[in-house]
Amino acid sequence: MGKISIDIRNATLIKEDITVGIDLGTTNSLIAIVEGEKRLPVCLRDGGKAIVPSILHFADDGSILVGDAAREKLVSDPRNTIYSIKRLLGRSYSELSAHSGYYGYRIVEDESGASVRVEAKGRHYTPVELSALILAELKQKAEQALGKTVSKAVITVPAYFDDQQRQATRDAGKLAGLEVLRIVNEPTAASLAYGLGLSPDEVRTIAVYDLGGGTFDLSVLRLEKGVFEVLATRGDTYLGGDDIDRSIAQFWLETVPGAELLRNDSHAIQDLRLSAERAKKHFTGSTETWRHTLASGQAVFVLELSAEQLADICKPLIDKTLQITRAALKDANTKPDEVVLVGGSTRMPLVKEAVRSLFPEIPVRDNLDPDEVVALGASVEADILAGNRRDILLLDVTPLSLGIETMGGLMDVMIPRNSRIPCSAARQYTTSVDGQTRLQISVYQGERELCSENRLLGRFELQQIPAMPAGLPKVEVRFTLDADGILRVKAMELRSGVAQEIAMEQRGGLDDATVEKMLLESLQHARSDMDTRMLLEAQQEGKQLIYTAERFVVKNRGLLNEDEIARTSMLCNELEASIASGSKDEILHAVDRLNDYTRPFAERLMDQAVAIALKGKTIE
Ligand code: AMP
Repeated sequence: MGKISIDIRNATLIKEDITVGIDLGTTNSLIAIVEGEKRLPVCLRDGGKAIVPSILHFADDGSILVGDAAREKLVSDPRNTIYSIKRLLGRSYSELSAHSGYYGYRIVEDESGASVRVEAKGRHYTPVELSALILAELKQKAEQALGKTVSKAVITVPAYFDDQQRQATRDAGKLAGLEVLRIVNEPTAASLAYGLGLSPDEVRTIAVYDLGGGTFDLSVLRLEKGVFEVLATRGDTYLGGDDIDRSIAQFWLETVPGAELLRNDSHAIQDLRLSAERAKKHFTGSTETWRHTLASGQAVFVLELSAEQLADICKPLIDKTLQITRAALKDANTKPDEVVLVGGSTRMPLVKEAVRSLFPEIPVRDNLDPDEVVALGASVEADILAGNRRDILLLDVTPLSLGIETMGGLMDVMIPRNSRIPCSAARQYTTSVDGQTRLQISVYQGERELCSENRLLGRFELQQIPAMPAGLPKVEVRFTLDADGILRVKAMELRSGVAQEIAMEQRGGLDDATVEKMLLESLQHARSDMDTRMLLEAQQEGKQLIYTAERFVVKNRGLLNEDEIARTSMLCNELEASIASGSKDEILHAVDRLNDYTRPFAERLMDQAVAIALKGKTIE
């Protein structure tokens, strides 16, 4: 009988772990690492290609194809081929339904109405699960390429992603078996890829113009002493190369004889979209008219696109990006020293020319591959977080104000829009009713004075506040916005130490267009919002006074005669009537009348208290 020998070296297999940077894109996703002595970032390649299309296909045999293999199914099986998943992340059905025609697959509302599900092969998937499948594919590819375990990652998101969308991205990473070290804004990552900020003496303002497949972002960055600070960010999640493709397809549907019949044929529409993309790319490097014959069923269509036609089609889309660029620079209140181009669509000569003409005097940098810069930068950040570099720090800003609902539904801003993150803010509140043991904390995001016009992020109740007279409890509400842009809200009654932290409700996210709309509306309604705020404040003051006056009468009957009690009650009724239907001034007059009448009562109470306190004592 032979002995079994165990090789010790095999038994102690060393697991080398590596931290990667991931650009989880709307159209394509990439993974990069930093390597070598010089700590240079590189994208990992598979058969020479760094890019994995962010597309999934659910096949008949139950298998799931990811990337290029799935992309091939866009035309033959559009119902079960899922693209642009990033647009669904952290969103509710109502936020997406306006764009539902955009998707070739079925999007359904989940039971709670809070998020969406995608239907494929009769099963429902969450956007987080779908994104996780793409991330898992990237992780697997990286492990194959490197022969090492990949378990930690930095993942990028558009600058305008809100809490829910960032959280959803983080969840997707976790589901794919990755520890997400940080969620980083794409333009910030791109600037890192350019090595900007690496020299400590560099002082510069940079505009990062990022036009990808599905989104546009513009960030204004300030670089100083190796520190990146995002001065402002603006964007639009429904503006990108995909929109250009759709506009070209739309142009053909309207102009090619007989093509309008294709409108209801989802296969043909996908075919047109792919042809449109090919036509668009043809003009990077050529000005010749593009021609192609498309067969659909029995019919044959001749598709044509000239350079002039492309320029006309793209103009409104490009103009929109320039408009957003100007607005972001206005937000930042500065002029850039240089512009960095990011995203596959910035390969288009039309885009480059437009940006150059907006900034004729400063360099427009486009020397890196615009598809790879975000992933490269994410890997630089991953390298920093892995402790390999200590010379860079990242700061960001929050795109919308964050606050809580106070009396009368008013928004009390805790962290104003464009505040640098990470940051924290705290404020004290109190109760308005005697013996109140609960306080509802509702957290909102937006620029309007009224919470009902803003977006509810979450709501919770601080319970078990020890019963005290109104105004005595001290409830500190603290907002902490971490480096990923994720908000945590804590409420604590300081006298008793009772505390509660918010578990944010999972609701849909905000797209950039909504952010823009919210900002615009806040400007348009600034005047009427202010009037509403003043009216609500007056109403609240009135209610509080009635409460105090009535409580006084109940507690101190002995100090007042019948007439005084009757008159106080009448003034309270008058005030109540003006709160119900009066103007701000009418309410404030009624407040003054009640205040003036009851003030001597309070003095009487004080005199009585002093008399009791002095009883039996002599004044020296
Ligand atoms: P991204 O989201 O950054 O990967 O960008 C992908 C987008 O860039 C898609 O809309 C592509 O059609 C577009 N794109 C890639 N290469 C080119 C090119 N050579 N010319 C025009 N658009 C391009």
